[in-house]
Amino acid sequence: MLGLMQNRPLLISNLVDYVATWHAETEIVSRDPRGVMHRSNYGEVALRAKRLANALEALGIKPGERVATLAWNSWRHLEIYYGVTCSGRVLHTVNPRLFKEQLIYIIDHAENGYVFFDPDFAPLVEQLAPHLPRVAGWIALCEEKDMPAAKVEGLKCYETLLAQASSEYDWPQFDENTACTLCYTSGTTGNPKGVLYSHRSTVLHAFAACAVDGLALSARDSILVVVPLFHANAWSLPFSAAMCGAKLVLPGPRLDPESIYMLLEQEGCTKAGGIPTIWLNFLAYVENNREKLDLTKLKLKLVFSGGTAAPRATIEKFRDLLGVFLLHAWGMTETSPIVTLGAPLSKHDSATPDEIVDMQVRQGRQIFGVELRVADEKGEPLPCDGKTVGQLKVRGNWVISGYFKGEGGKVMDDDGWFGTGDVATINPDGYVQLTDRLKDVIKSGGEWISSIEIENLAVSHPEVFEAAVIAIPHPTWQERPLLLVQPKPGTHPTKESILEFLSTRIAKWWMPDEVIFVESLPHTATGKLLKTELRKKYGGQLAVAG
Ligand code: AMP
Repeated sequence: MLGLMQNRPLLISNLVDYVATWHAETEIVSRDPRGVMHRSNYGEVALRAKRLANALEALGIKPGERVATLAWNSWRHLEIYYGVTCSGRVLHTVNPRLFKEQLIYIIDHAENGYVFFDPDFAPLVEQLAPHLPRVAGWIALCEEKDMPAAKVEGLKCYETLLAQASSEYDWPQFDENTACTLCYTSGTTGNPKGVLYSHRSTVLHAFAACAVDGLALSARDSILVVVPLFHANAWSLPFSAAMCGAKLVLPGPRLDPESIYMLLEQEGCTKAGGIPTIWLNFLAYVENNREKLDLTKLKLKLVFSGGTAAPRATIEKFRDLLGVFLLHAWGMTETSPIVTLGAPLSKHDSATPDEIVDMQVRQGRQIFGVELRVADEKGEPLPCDGKTVGQLKVRGNWVISGYFKGEGGKVMDDDGWFGTGDVATINPDGYVQLTDRLKDVIKSGGEWISSIEIENLAVSHPEVFEAAVIAIPHPTWQERPLLLVQPKPGTHPTKESILEFLSTRIAKWWMPDEVIFVESLPHTATGKLLKTELRKKYGGQLAVAG
């Protein structure tokens, strides 16, 4: 027997209508590339999103067609998020930090007819345009007076397009499985692949993000969105903040610690989301300027951190300097992205501060709506005992079923599990501890050594800014760990001091065979250590037999 409840499609337009009706005055604050503050609100953003929908219609962009952005976090980018998706088109957020060849590949692969770009990307647009004959229009996100002098065909002004369009527009109703956004994985090997989200997956994901053991969002929050709108739907914040009517603070391109601190203080931010490198720099700034700053003015309570592992030292510093809880999250572009979050359980009420940090350094536990397991090489499930290491597999309502245009072939096994390529343990409470990427694991004498764990411990050394561990060949043990260290500015750590620091914290057989000091470490376009490059450069070193 079927239930007798209404069945309304889960559409992003529901979120936008809701927030525009009941939280119209709630602010959307942005800082533009010149540092000028712009204040808008959900009511205005929603109206301008409707103007944009009419403008897209006038440009002849059909439902289902992909519209690209090359843009920082700003109110205009948010309007495009809403206007494009709610009107039935697909928003393709392009990561401007990718290489030129990758940018050309993905804009072409997505068949983008129009690209909305921030004027400071004009030089990049000039380089891309000759290779992208399919792009009919490049729309600069500015007013007519600020139009860049870019030599590209089909250059248009966003504000002029909006001014010419009406704000009268009824969002169309359609199947909730309709595509809404498209993000390409940065992929260190091969071409980037597109992940195509649906309205249904996005709304369900936003519900989970809002939950108290999720990102715990509410109408009383002011959220600093450091994570770029072009990276994995900015962890759902454009949607989940609208779902609960939280204020959004969009920092534009300036992500230096001083700018972040200023926004947190001025805009009364209670929550903020970004990758660990951002927080590392931010905390160093707070520590060095403690005397000058009035920390009591900060209302920050919770910081979401994901993308790479949050080091223990970062978690402790947030607690000790600012009384802030770092909520460690794990996910992937392929999983919308949120899958696990490090919210405490009631048993942690009686835990010591160190035990709480032990919990926080893990990547969190799964939220409802997705399922997670560790599996062996044959795909068989392994015990969740906190010790057994296997590949992390995931399935659920906001997990990929296949890449855009079928690239990469079948991605799920017969039971619908998606292999993440991450290696981890899951403990009996469900907390995940990532140990490596499958392709980065170090196999020494048949046992696995976790590069992530050694890296995390190394950055707890007072003179280490960042660390990377890769495998080097060894005549007896097949592989051994090599530690690469970028010292903190003005410090000169020695190999001995680093190894001594590690020796009390990790098993003897995990100790790196070699430590090399470097000026900087290479990163991908999404801020992850580029280990392929490190392996190319240093992986040929042969560890000393012994
Ligand atoms: P992306 O699709 O660019 O978001 O990258 C997803 C990958 O980032 C995951 O498969 C992990 O390897 C890594 N990652 C994400 N969150 C974390 C985390 N909290 N700790 C360690 N690695 C992470």
